[in-house]
Amino acid sequence: MSGSTESQGGFLSRRGFIRRASSRVAALGAAPLVSSVMAISTQKAPSDGEDYYAKLGVATIINAAGTYTTLTAACMPPQVLAAVQKAALHPVRLHDLQQRAGEYIARRLKCEGAVVTSGASGAISLATAACLQSANNISILEMPQAIEGMKNQVIVQRAHRYEYDRAIYLCGARVTEVVTLDDYRRACGVGNAVMTNFFNAAEDEDGLAASAQIGREEWLRVAHEYKIPCHLDAAADMPPISNLWKYTGMGFDLVAFSGGKGMRGPQNAGLLLGRKILTDLAHANNNPGDGIGRGMKVAKEQIVGMVAAVDWVLAQTEVSMQGDYQKRVDLIASAVKGIRSVRTETVVPKIANHVPHLLIRFDPAVTGVTTGQVVDALRAGTPSIELNPNTGQKPNQGIPADANTLVVGVWMLQPGEDAIVGQRIRDALTKRA
Ligand SMILES: *Cc1c(COP(=O)(O)O)cnc(C)c1O
Repeated sequence: MSGSTESQGGFLSRRGFIRRASSRVAALGAAPLVSSVMAISTQKAPSDGEDYYAKLGVATIINAAGTYTTLTAACMPPQVLAAVQKAALHPVRLHDLQQRAGEYIARRLKCEGAVVTSGASGAISLATAACLQSANNISILEMPQAIEGMKNQVIVQRAHRYEYDRAIYLCGARVTEVVTLDDYRRACGVGNAVMTNFFNAAEDEDGLAASAQIGREEWLRVAHEYKIPCHLDAAADMPPISNLWKYTGMGFDLVAFSGGKGMRGPQNAGLLLGRKILTDLAHANNNPGDGIGRGMKVAKEQIVGMVAAVDWVLAQTEVSMQGDYQKRVDLIASAVKGIRSVRTETVVPKIANHVPHLLIRFDPAVTGVTTGQVVDALRAGTPSIELNPNTGQKPNQGIPADANTLVVGVWMLQPGEDAIVGQRIRDALTKRA
């Protein structure tokens, strides 16, 4: 059955959808919106392969949320996609590729060593495995089952505990929780710690700054007095681009980044950067050996894709990247301008997701719709649109939302989708959706 036959069964073809969107936007009479939408129709699909989303009946969405894994996070830029496609055509010796990719990335990101991992979570597991090995001088085969009685503690501030602690537990390590500087010194002094974990975005963020008592510099100084390596989780913390070398430069022994968030590499890729003696151990624990990383396989397509994503990021400038996101924010803000009670504002969270987000505040008594109803209307429409999950919520992670605020994450939008999102939010707020 051909793709076009399928698309008649309820799925709008991309072109049909664009035509519809263009006419709606044109009806607004806003010239910049039209040219922005036109940009989609000139985009070519990278190949003329079958549209399996249509074939499987999986609706594509407009991601006005952000780099959320449940929404498949980033789409790769065309040059990254092209590099992946080229790499997919040829087998290579995997160890050679891992080695050379690591060396290349380390050189470009100004650190001693690098590993392309299955994601930031996989990077945390490989970091833990490397530090367990380094502290105990054990073989990769002894993790996770045989490390009771060995050094096996990872020191973490209570305010930095999170769901990714499981990436640490996976290796058999355990967490020693600390609150005060005294706690921390004592935990380091016991002599059973193999690593510390610092959740980068937990510091300086609204609501969390008060409970985390130890800052980065002090954290590093104390651990290093006891020769304990420090890992930093900076998964969602690019941009700024310079963060890719800032934290290793500051002295963190290992730093994890997600590849499929702001870096726009493959969604199942990430980076572990840092001191070569530790990244070499992480490599040894990685697929295809028998270590903890065996189930975190990173194929040639993801490795090459991650290298290409590093090149892509380094070809951007802070000003062009943030300026482009701000333009999208401005375009969507202009689409909802003039609706009674609506006020818009741009916010840039300090650490994680450090890009312009649009807040649209309104009085539901005036508009006659609630944030929940807008979310439902956008989700129910075609194409389905997902707003940032902070919509209608309390302030969180640097986003000062409330019950009557829509949050639009613009950085994962594809060219032209900003105009569609603006129009659809306008329709929803004016009950035309
Ligand atoms: C997203 C995220 C991760 C996991 O990243 P993946 O690349 O999806 O594995 C880990 N830590 C933090 C703080 C994150 O935001």
